[in-house]
Amino acid sequence: MSELWKEQLENSIDSLEKLEKIINLTDDERQAIKTLDTRWGTTPYFASLMDKDDPNCPIRRQVVPSLEENTNKYGMQDYLVWKENRATDEVRPDSIARQYRDRVAFTVTGKCGIYCRHCFRKELVVDRDLKLDFNIDEGIEWISQHPEVRDVLVTGGDPLLLPDEKIKYLIDSLREIPHVEMIRIGSRLPIVLPHRITDNLKEILGGYHEVPVWLNTQCNHPKEITDLTKRAVYDLLTCGVNVGNQAVLLKGINDDVGTIRSLHQELLSARIRPYYLFYCEPAPGIDHFRTPVEKGSELIRDGLRGHTTGLAQPMHVIATNVGKIPLMRDYYIVGNDVEKYTLKNHRGETTEIPNIKE
Ligand SMILES: *Cc1c(COP(=O)(O)O)cnc(C)c1O
Ligand code: SF4
Repeated sequence: MSELWKEQLENSIDSLEKLEKIINLTDDERQAIKTLDTRWGTTPYFASLMDKDDPNCPIRRQVVPSLEENTNKYGMQDYLVWKENRATDEVRPDSIARQYRDRVAFTVTGKCGIYCRHCFRKELVVDRDLKLDFNIDEGIEWISQHPEVRDVLVTGGDPLLLPDEKIKYLIDSLREIPHVEMIRIGSRLPIVLPHRITDNLKEILGGYHEVPVWLNTQCNHPKEITDLTKRAVYDLLTCGVNVGNQAVLLKGINDDVGTIRSLHQELLSARIRPYYLFYCEPAPGIDHFRTPVEKGSELIRDGLRGHTTGLAQPMHVIATNVGKIPLMRDYYIVGNDVEKYTLKNHRGETTEIPNIKE
């Protein structure tokens, strides 16, 4: 039973032949698969959620390569080297990306349960032009020598694709470092391979512990949430792992009010707390997924804030070389004078509160 996840991986949908058995491909999709030099594919479970006939299916567009990936007007060359400050003076192992003093991203693998067509780490994960050494011991050693690092974000690729023993070694080693106060895992597996949340994994991550584990997954469309997802999230929560979501704003997939609202409501019904909504970064070859800069802020204004549960509110941010930066306009403070502030709600009604000075 518990090894279902390995079976899923062994049977990954990653060839034209296997894909043709699941969906009716368009000529463009077929040509993209044949001509693009790219890693693609996902688990049979996630592939089964694709629409057989609709090439615009929100899941299908994340899974199946597109000829549009050849176009690159806004994407930067050597994007990750820039974004992860890899060309700076600080000596760090390949596995450690740093933008903040108190926290780092620790890349432990280049493998994923889906090779997302919109991936920001495409050069590393999907196209593999950037080669890094994911030496776990080296990373742990570096973190142990940097007492200012209190929060370690374990990322990839997908860290939960590592074998149980490696995950155990990694988590146990991080928990032994006295200055590490929290561990975060970035993993799409609760969405693309919920079978991965096995009893043994729960034991490794869970239990009462002074160093908590937070897991942020990536779910971009309500169709990605099934009963299996809900069960996997419940299992993570029952062993003490907090679960959040980092969605990516994707043109034609979730950039409308209805979808963004049902996505965030469905996340809550699966007990997943919305955290970020990412603006589609200027990584190469993903122009066709990118929206105008303020789209996410407008969608939150028009679809979420005041329109649904307050817990269903992600922050729209862009991840840059100097850290994550909110891309949020203030639509709510519409005026102030010496006496008062005037505030406007989601229905356009105004109210006033006193202006308090220092
Ligand atoms: C995203 C990221 C973090 C974590 O950012 P939070 O806003 O704290 O979630 C830390 N370091 C790097 C290099 C990152 O890319
Ligand atoms: S799961 Fe994450 S790292 Fe992997 S391809 Fe998708 S976005 Fe990129």
